[in-house]
Amino acid sequence: MTVHIDNMTRVFDSPNADRIVAVDELSLTIEDGEFLTLVGPSGCGKTTTLRCVAGLDTPTAGTIRVDDRDVTELPPQQRDVALLFQDIALYPHMSVRKNMEYGLKIAGVPEDERREHVAEAAALLQIGDQLDKMPASLSGGQQQRVALGRSLVRDPSVFLFDEPMSDLDAKLKRELRPVVQRITDEIGCPVLYVTHDQEEAMTMSDRIAIMDDGELQQAGSPKEVYSEPINDFVGEFIGQPAMEFFDAHVESANGTAAVSMGDHTVSLPATADELEGYVDSPVRVGVRPQQIGIGDPAEGIEAEHVLDEPLGDETHSIFETEFGDVTVVTHADFDGDGDTEYGLVLDESATQLFDPDSGVRIH
Ligand code: ATP
Repeated sequence: MTVHIDNMTRVFDSPNADRIVAVDELSLTIEDGEFLTLVGPSGCGKTTTLRCVAGLDTPTAGTIRVDDRDVTELPPQQRDVALLFQDIALYPHMSVRKNMEYGLKIAGVPEDERREHVAEAAALLQIGDQLDKMPASLSGGQQQRVALGRSLVRDPSVFLFDEPMSDLDAKLKRELRPVVQRITDEIGCPVLYVTHDQEEAMTMSDRIAIMDDGELQQAGSPKEVYSEPINDFVGEFIGQPAMEFFDAHVESANGTAAVSMGDHTVSLPATADELEGYVDSPVRVGVRPQQIGIGDPAEGIEAEHVLDEPLGDETHSIFETEFGDVTVVTHADFDGDGDTEYGLVLDESATQLFDPDSGVRIH
């Protein structure tokens, strides 16, 4: 199965404000067996997109197809779609087994077949020994596995997830991630997954689609959206800590290009020809905090140390510069000194250039 979202728009009427365009001409294809994650700031239209694919909401314009079948106007039960929310909502008075087989029972599947499906799903989810327990006696992570099992036994054509792990702690998330991946691999259907958690998006997805203000910004592999962001929004949204930006000016000498940032100049991994149209013009330089080194003030952008956030295997150090506060990923044992003058040295090969008006990446 392949899910095709074509030119989908969803507008909400608002009694005391302008109409809200929650999703704006979104086109996206989720291939069979593909795990596609939707990310973006709060209110960018992720849940609305998911609800439209699930059939819980209807687009104002555009279509949703599953293979050749137009499902845009179909109710959820006719779509063969499984949807898993963060709100687990197991039936508290039913055992794990009854919870998992409930959907099949309602659909009239005979008992021996139900048992078989539940046993298979429970084995995949590693909850085979929990089937006779009641939900209240399970941990949050186990409950989410049961909820996953409930969707799984129905062998859906499309799997949708709306922040299924957001209530779980970091350790449980890490445990559950490979389980979700194994299961979705096993089913081999298209998966549309919504999350706020970057680590989840980066580690689980085949592709990540980044939305802002109802519009799709970029869809690509985790590596692609990280290394080749289409614009400064994606550059800043993907990656932690966020990409740092510096207002700069492109200069060229003997065919090579450089950017000046205040009194500091950085040569670029680009020729003046490649930056045609931008020579002698302003640009935004983007660099990841991992690609900024610390040296003398003469070597880089003058900086004053503000604070260190030790994270165990690395430290996030904040510096004050003429460009504002800049975060640098430093060694675990870095201990900044407020009285020392530092210079922030950008790794030239890792700099990215963005158009200062449109935000589009130029190089
Ligand atoms: P979050 O990450 O906070 O869950 P989201 O990216 O999922 O956000 P949506 O919930 O899809 O965003 O909302 C997109 C926009 O549409 C928001 O401005 C929201 O207020 C608006 N919206 C969503 N549902 C409705 C509704 N039923 N009526 C009016 N406006 C709505």
